[in-house]
Amino acid sequence: MTPTPPILTVLFYSAAAAGLSVAGVLPVLRRDRLPLRWMGWANALAGGVMIGAAYALTVHVDEALELGAGALLGILFIHWSHMGIGTEELDLNSVEQMEPAYGYRVMLMTVLHSGWEGVAIGTAAVVDLSFGIFLALALAVHNVPEATVLAAVLRGQGVRGRSVAALTVAVNVPQVLLAVSVYGVVSAAPATLPWVAGFAVGALIDLVLVELLAQSYRQAGKISIAVVAAVSMGIVVLVEGLLG
Ligand SMILES: [Zn+2]
Repeated sequence: MTPTPPILTVLFYSAAAAGLSVAGVLPVLRRDRLPLRWMGWANALAGGVMIGAAYALTVHVDEALELGAGALLGILFIHWSHMGIGTEELDLNSVEQMEPAYGYRVMLMTVLHSGWEGVAIGTAAVVDLSFGIFLALALAVHNVPEATVLAAVLRGQGVRGRSVAALTVAVNVPQVLLAVSVYGVVSAAPATLPWVAGFAVGALIDLVLVELLAQSYRQAGKISIAVVAAVSMGIVVLVEGLLG
């Protein structure tokens, strides 16, 4: 039997991660409005996994200088993209803003967010395919609480159940596309690996600090957010360490 080409493995696991987002819609469909605390905890859970993923990626790359420079580029790129579309100070968790323009902007930011995570999956798979699978699975888990927050916002916009489910999966399609294309490009040009890994690390940490945690402290209180984020980060780091 011929072995599965690695790029198809990357495609399969990143697509499964995107598909799992639909599970995050369930808590929102069952109630009119998601408690604000839940949104905070969902953000903290997702943010902790992202910091754990960034840490795991960092320890797999030896070229510290290129990694650091790539991280700086990742942070700058995110801020430039926000400046370009005018979303620097956008509140991503509002369930009260009814204007369609608000919904579109949140969707756009989520699409970019999922895309940067795809870069992390693709790079990790070049480092080692099993590490790439691990990172895709960790981000699959994190896609669930992120989908819960997005679903709550979309419900606030009056979007119906099935459309909410479809949209929360659709915004993660860039995660799959970038995972596969970054895997292809970095495999073909291995010298770019520390730069692209650094880009993903910078992007992941920046997204957590600016987009996820900043709002969640207000929603669920500082201590519970710190605990949820630290525990979810610790689990990712621990499992990654055990898998070696
Ligand atoms: Zn995320």
